[in-house]
Order: sequence, then structure tokens, then C-alpha cells
Amino acid sequence: MTSPRGRPAIPLERYAERLAAARSIAEESGIAAVLMGVGADLRYLTGYVAQPLERLTMLVVPAGGPPRLIVPRLEAIPARASTAGAAGLVEIVPWEETDDAIAIVAGLVRESVGVSREPLRVAVSDRLWATFVLALQAALPDADVGLASAVLRRLRIVKDADEIALLRLAAEAADRVVAAIAAGPLVGRTEADVAHEVRDRLVAEGHDLAEFAIVASGPNSASPHHEASDRVIGAGEPIVLDIGGSLGGYGSDTTRTLWVTGDDPAMGPDEEFLQIHGIVHAAQRGATEAVAPGVACEQIDAVARAIIAEGGYGDRFIHRVGHGIGLEGHEDPYLVTGNSAPLEAGMAFSIEPGIYLEGRYGCRIEDIVVCGADGPVTLDQTPRELLVVPG
Ligand code: ZN
Ligand code: ZN
Ligand code: ZN
Repeated sequence: MTSPRGRPAIPLERYAERLAAARSIAEESGIAAVLMGVGADLRYLTGYVAQPLERLTMLVVPAGGPPRLIVPRLEAIPARASTAGAAGLVEIVPWEETDDAIAIVAGLVRESVGVSREPLRVAVSDRLWATFVLALQAALPDADVGLASAVLRRLRIVKDADEIALLRLAAEAADRVVAAIAAGPLVGRTEADVAHEVRDRLVAEGHDLAEFAIVASGPNSASPHHEASDRVIGAGEPIVLDIGGSLGGYGSDTTRTLWVTGDDPAMGPDEEFLQIHGIVHAAQRGATEAVAPGVACEQIDAVARAIIAEGGYGDRFIHRVGHGIGLEGHEDPYLVTGNSAPLEAGMAFSIEPGIYLEGRYGCRIEDIVVCGADGPVTLDQTPRELLVVPG
């Protein structure tokens, strides 16, 4: 098990660098201020993990001034205890219950804008609630409001060594859970019961949050995002197990496909299932091997898609091959047709091809892969072969 104490943490200097980089990208993009609500952007820049509330919490990073974190008075203590707050990298500005927090933010934006800055451009975090966005627009009617990802995307998309260390710990913890679940028992239990065990084990293995536990048995395995149900797992059917959560803020996300035989070895996988699993395995391996700096994101998808099409199941691979992962479970870069952006060393993403035969069954194999300087670094290490288990 991994204790939070022994866990690598993002060092303080990194937050100072990130805040400075966000400020200079804003400056060079002509953005007067970047406004971040509760969420991954705020955590990335300050280490502050806040609850999303109707009361406004907002980090204001002006192009031309010091960053300030506006928080409801009752949240001032945790805000001050955050890495950036405790080190004085951001000034904590508490607001009272009767204050107009939006007006405070608007005032800070105005204050930081030089008289010459025209038009007024601000960027808000992509996941900021509509209630706050509309109120900000009303308070800054002359502002052109864009997305903070324009500023933060290129910072967050490339992971540093400490972030990769956390992604690796999360992957290793998820791998141990996959191995424990595959060891059974499975037959006779409901998907929901197994999903509950997955969540408990993710936390026991060091995750802060067990975010999802897809346990898709029998025909349910043909639905990529199946919600674990009361269906009882039977002998002679596959299970797609897709699990993950976050550890130290960084996500795990891995999928393995099992086949449960029960007591009867004759209840093993049929020919077609062995075939589709073999194709998915080849596609997953081929796509992973194609990872290198400079290769277009869409090319990784294309490699997997070509192998599956060659196998005769091109129309049954119904989703992109992968998504970036970091402080959010799905983030840039997306490995999908149309994304011609090149991979860079330090990018982290899933590679998860699948084949889904509706009404019958499906399979998927997923690893988290980091683009290394010389090629792929695969974080998930459980065997990718079809796991035929007595269950
Ligand atoms: Zn998914
Ligand atoms: Zn997944
Ligand atoms: Zn995924």
C-alpha cells in the first residue's frame, strides 16, 4: 500500500514556475487576467483543492500584477494552508457573506489593466459554472471572455517528473486492484457488488478517490461506458473491467478483459471472442509502439483503427483510441482523427482500443502511456492477454 506520507509531492518551486508561466503566456496573448474557479486549473497553479460551492472561489492571475485567491471567509483557513497560499505565492483575499464576490474580482481585473489595454480580454477556466461566467460578463460588460485552456493547455499537457511519478503510482495501484479482482470470486456476484469491491480496493491501494468502476459482464461488455448493474455474472462470459480514480490528484485508468469459466473449463471463450480480443490486443500494442515525440495524435488512433479494420471489425471500434490524463481523468491531448498536433515528451494519455458487438459481447484493453524522449513508457503492467479465470 502507498501511504500519503511516502508519496512524491509537487515541490513548491513548481507552483511558482507555473504561476509565472501562466502570467507570461497571458501577457503575450494579450489577456488581461486569467480567472480560475474551483478545479484542476486552480489545483495546478496553487495546490489548493477546494470544494465546488455556490460561493465563489477564484484565482485571479493578472498579466501585470500579483496573483490573488478570492475565497469565501469560511474557506480562508484551507486556502491559506494550500501550497501556494502558505508560501505567499498568492495573496488570499477573503470575502464576507454580504460582499459581492464577483464585484471584487471585476475590481481586481480593472485595477490590473493598464489604461492602454484595449479591448479588455479575460480568460475563465473551462469548467467554471455558468452562474459565475454570466455574472462576470455582467460585471465586465466590455470584456471579451475566452477560455483559460488557451493559457494553461500548453503547460498542463506536458507532465514533469513529479507528475509522472504520481501517474505511475496511481497506475500501479490500479494494476493491483485489477489483479485482485481477476483472482475472483466473480461468478454468482452482481456487477454492482464487484464494482463496490473495486472502489474499496482503489482506496485501500492509495487512491484518494475511486472515480469509476466499470464492470461490464456478458452482453453488457458491448457498451463501453456500461454502468455496473444488478446483473449476476455467469460462467462462460466476458467481463470488461475499466477502473480508475485519483492519487495525489493524478488519475489512473486501466481496462482489462477477462473471461470467467466457472467450475467448467469447457465454458471457455468461443472462437470469435478469441479473435476479437487478439485483434484488440494487436491494435493496442501497435498504437503504443507508434508513440514517439513528433508523431501526430491522430496517427496513434489511425494505427489502432487500421489493425481493427484489417481484422474486419472497423465499424465496431466506436470511440477514439485515447485521451490525455493528469489532474483530470480526460484532458488534452485527445488521440482522435482530426487532432494533428504532435506528441511531445511528457504527454500522458490512455491507449484503449475496443471492439463492441452489440447484443453479444465486447472487449477493450487500456493502458496509460507516457510519451518518452525515445518512445512509449507504459505505466500499466498487468498482462494484456485475455485473462481466462475460473472465477
Ligand atoms: Zn471511457
Ligand atoms: Zn478507462
Ligand atoms: Zn480511458
